Amino acid sequence: ITGCTEAGVELEVASVHVVSKSEITLPFSVKAASLPGSYQYGETDNDTVRGGEAKAEAAAAQQVKVGLDTRLNYRWIDLRTPCNQAIMRINTGVSTLFREYLYARDFVEIHSPKLNGGASEGGANCFTLKYFGQPACLAQSPQLFKQMTAGCGGLERVFEVGPVFRAEDSNTHRHLCEFTGLDMEMAINEHYFEVLEMFSGLFINIFEGLNERYAKEIGLVSELFPVEPFKFCKPSLRLTYAEGCQLLADYTLTESDIARGCTSQSPEEDLSTPNEKLLGRIVKAKYGTDFFMMDEYPLKVRPFYTMPHPTNPKLSNSYDFFMRGEEILSGAQRVHDVDKLLERCRTDGGHGEPMSEEAIDSIKGYIDSFRHGALPHGGGGVGLERVVMLFLGLPNIRLASFFPRDPKRLAP
Ligand code: ATP
Repeated sequence: ITGCTEAGVELEVASVHVVSKSEITLPFSVKAASLPGSYQYGETDNDTVRGGEAKAEAAAAQQVKVGLDTRLNYRWIDLRTPCNQAIMRINTGVSTLFREYLYARDFVEIHSPKLNGGASEGGANCFTLKYFGQPACLAQSPQLFKQMTAGCGGLERVFEVGPVFRAEDSNTHRHLCEFTGLDMEMAINEHYFEVLEMFSGLFINIFEGLNERYAKEIGLVSELFPVEPFKFCKPSLRLTYAEGCQLLADYTLTESDIARGCTSQSPEEDLSTPNEKLLGRIVKAKYGTDFFMMDEYPLKVRPFYTMPHPTNPKLSNSYDFFMRGEEILSGAQRVHDVDKLLERCRTDGGHGEPMSEEAIDSIKGYIDSFRHGALPHGGGGVGLERVVMLFLGLPNIRLASFFPRDPKRLAP
């Protein structure tokens, strides 16, 4: 018997009772939507599907296709396919493994407010709303509260798993307007490498835990989205940003790299998305890993609360982590001295621009929390759905979200 998951038994139906009736016409058949090659991406979805490869694959196969939009419009039916059930179990698995690792290391799970008077990331890309007559923002990250609890509130080690809102009109395969943030912040004893080590151990725990606990689910997903299994090494590979840029500089761009948008990378500017992906391919070929971290980013491309490098004023004690050549974590040691923090706001509140006094005033509570002594600390933020997408090699982040929110989708 090949048509069902239980191949070793045969059922003889004596009678059937309807417990809950469905309308006769379904928007699509669960069986058709469960088959390899059944995903279809709209003409306008080119940009929202990683590499466009999945679209080409689907077009090549002669079979019933179910569009991503249709699936998402009827997400409750789409979630019934074995592949989606597996993806969602893995989604939960990532947050469980994240929590388990940090609980075992004396971290406290915090629950920070999502309704705030000021923006957490310098004002841009913030959903604004009215809060009893005064302006308010939906939290763009738990950043300020993680710092106020771990660094200023004496909890020393905190994490949060919660919604993060970004008003970015980014119609790409990897951006959502609401995603699940996996955030962590910890006191530093001697060096910010302590944070890098914690994150590295945390990710290895997630990858190994997924492989051990979810082998069946990973297999189900790979039937629809065949990719090479995710590779990582122990200890994790760490490069400096300068070393990453050097790897790019040493590589000769091919015509197809240029067509993908790759360009020569300045070590003083942030990595462009095409160059980020190219670096992932170069690192994979050289070191055999899909997972690595880079630190010592240029200070000017990092947020105002980032600790500058101790000896090179152009650099910072900051880092990003990557999976399959895409960013999944951004973090840094944070400034814990109030005068330095204000100086950073007034010289570089974001994208090299000083923050307005009004914006500084809107995060007064955060600034003031450093007036009474604070522990040196650092941490980072991860996007849960991105980790799921990249671990499984899915073509689109929407597949890794229970009910995705993007610039064009606010329901169901
Ligand atoms: P990107 O450059 O990819 O837009 P970012 O630099 O804005 O990301 P951060 O603000 O540093 O990202 O957020 C930390 C992490 O949160 C990212 O590494 C990513 O995993 C996740 N993330 C950020 N923005 C989004 C988004 N719009 N949708 C889904 N995940 C996101």
